[in-house]
Amino acid sequence: MVQALTGVWASRHSEELKRGITIKLGYADAAIYKCPNCDEPQCYCTSTSCPQCGTEAEFQRAVSFVDAPGHEILMATMLSGAAVMDGAILVIAADERCPQPQTREHLAAIDIVGLENVLIVQNKIDIVTREDAIRHYNDIQKFVEGSVAEDAPIIPVSAQHEVNTDLLLQAMEEYLKTPERATTESSRMYIVRSFDVNVPGTSIDNLKGGVVGGSIIQGSFEAGEEVEIRPGLPVREKNKVKMKGLFTEITSLHSGNTTVKQAMPGGLVGVGTLLDPSLTKSDGLVGSLIGKPGTLPPVLGEISLDIRLFENVIGSRDMGKVASVAKGERLLLNVGTAKTMGAVTKVAKDYLEATLTIPVCGEAGDRVALSRRIGSRWRLIGVGTLKG
Ligand code: ZN
Repeated sequence: MVQALTGVWASRHSEELKRGITIKLGYADAAIYKCPNCDEPQCYCTSTSCPQCGTEAEFQRAVSFVDAPGHEILMATMLSGAAVMDGAILVIAADERCPQPQTREHLAAIDIVGLENVLIVQNKIDIVTREDAIRHYNDIQKFVEGSVAEDAPIIPVSAQHEVNTDLLLQAMEEYLKTPERATTESSRMYIVRSFDVNVPGTSIDNLKGGVVGGSIIQGSFEAGEEVEIRPGLPVREKNKVKMKGLFTEITSLHSGNTTVKQAMPGGLVGVGTLLDPSLTKSDGLVGSLIGKPGTLPPVLGEISLDIRLFENVIGSRDMGKVASVAKGERLLLNVGTAKTMGAVTKVAKDYLEATLTIPVCGEAGDRVALSRRIGSRWRLIGVGTLKG
C-alpha cells in the first residue's frame, strides 16, 4: 500500500549516504497533490500533474510512512515507532477474519501512545466477493466500537490495483491533519534508528560520522549545531549500569529526499554527526533523545508510574485475563522510543515503582507501555504515566 501511495519504494537516485539513511530508517515519503479542476476524490494524487486531466496539481503536503508490519512483530518495536507518529493508518486485510490478534495489538498501541488521528484501510477488496467485503466491513465497525478508532473512517482499498487510493489520500488530508507544534520550545528529537553508513574497508580519511534517524517532536535543528544525546550509551560501573550522555555536532540533516539546513517537526529526519560511527551502529542509540546541551529531561534509573492494566491480554489468541503485577516481577517497559526492563519494587492497584536495568530519559506525563512475558513472547498488559 505504501508503494501504491509513494511509488518510490526502490527508485531513489541519491548519493550513497542519503540512500543508506532512507533505507535504514524503513520509511517512505509521499507528497500529496490536488488537481484544481477535478472533483473529489479523483483530484487527489501523488504526482505533480493530474492523472485524470493532466493539469498541473497543487502540492498539499509531504508525509512519511513508518511501517509497522503485523507479522512476528515485537510489540515493543512497534511502540517505539508509534511514539513518533502523528497519525495511524490501521490496515486490515479483507481476506482474513477481523480482528486478528495482531490487529488488536496494533489498535491497543495506537491507543497507548495517544494517537488520536486514525484511519482504517480495508485492503485486498479485490480478492473477496462483494458480500464478504461488506460483512468484513461490518466486522471492522464492530471491532473498533468503543475504541480510539470508533469514529475513524473505514476505506475499502485495493492497493494492488490502486483502487480508492485517491479516496485514501483525501481521507489522510481530512483526518490525519498535521498537528500544531510549538517551534519555540526546547528542541527535542526522538531517536528511532541509528547506524554506521560506512561500507567495510573505507579508509580513515573517508569515514563518515555516526548517523541517527528520528522525529523532531518540538523545536528545530540546524546543521552545525552542538547537541546532546541523552541518556546515551550504557557504561558498566561495578555491578551497575550508568548512562553516559554524548555531545556532538550536527554535520548534516536529511529530510525526505533532500539535504536540508534546518529540520522541523513532521516526518523522519536523518542526522549526520561527528560521533564515532561505532557508537551509532546497529541501532545503538535508539531510545535516546537529542536536544540542545543541558535542556533534556533527567535520566531515570528508578521510576514511579500511575498504571492502568488491561482486562485481557491483547494480542494472544485466547485473550486470557491480565493478572495483577507482583512485587519483584520484571516487566518490559517502553518509554518514548526507549525500551528497558523494570524490576517492580512497589506495587498497588493503580501504581507501581520499578528499578530499570537501562535508565531512560523521561519526565512527568510521559506514557509508558507495560509488557509481561507470557509463554514465549512479551504481551502488552497495560499502560502507565510517569510521575514527577
Ligand atoms: Zn485533474
